[in-house]
Amino acid sequence: MIIFFEVIRMNILLVEDESAVISVIQRGLTEHNLSVSVALDGTTGLQMAREHAFDVILLDIMLPGMNGIEVCKTLRRENVNTPVLMLTALGSTENVITGLDSGADDYMSKPFKLSELYARIRALARRRFTQLKDDSAISIGSLVLNTVSKTITRNNTPISLTATEYKLLEYLMKNANRVLSRMEILEHVWGINFNMGTNVVDVYVNYLRKKIDKDFENKMIHTLVGMGYVLKSD
Ligand code: CA
Repeated sequence: MIIFFEVIRMNILLVEDESAVISVIQRGLTEHNLSVSVALDGTTGLQMAREHAFDVILLDIMLPGMNGIEVCKTLRRENVNTPVLMLTALGSTENVITGLDSGADDYMSKPFKLSELYARIRALARRRFTQLKDDSAISIGSLVLNTVSKTITRNNTPISLTATEYKLLEYLMKNANRVLSRMEILEHVWGINFNMGTNVVDVYVNYLRKKIDKDFENKMIHTLVGMGYVLKSD
């Protein structure tokens, strides 16, 4: 097995305002031959994440300007899918859930061991690498859609969809974590001139739910009353 990250130098973005934390992380990761760029506030971090291709973003929650949750949400909304590891100061359950809901991939509570941080960065980068390598597959949580073979699996169990259901699911998955209005869905899945009203969206979302979510405890398709639908990782 080729361990790519020991060959290619990983670029890490650290968004953190505490100088003590910055110096510990920077020193530790540089020793492992990782390149660490630092942003001291949320707005700068967001800008850097948009402009450069980082392998992993380490994102503090409590930051001057824009907080880490908002930074992460904004990135995901803009389809910047760089893995995000949240650094939570409090480690409270609520903090963790909010962080993961915002689209973060993992979290660590401060203070943490550098060896563990390094291990988690490697895991995130490895996952990212696998995803990029197989870009014909879109995977959100346990749900995997292959755009070439047009096959869908959840927890490795094949799911059979009609052509329209497939188009709808592909659109939801490509925009995972983004709330899509019925109008947007209608335009993208059925075409802009489709004239049957948005009710057809509800009908097809229900069909999809029966196939994707019904037999699973954790639901992936969520309704936001008055706003539309969102597909999230389970
Ligand atoms: Ca902070």
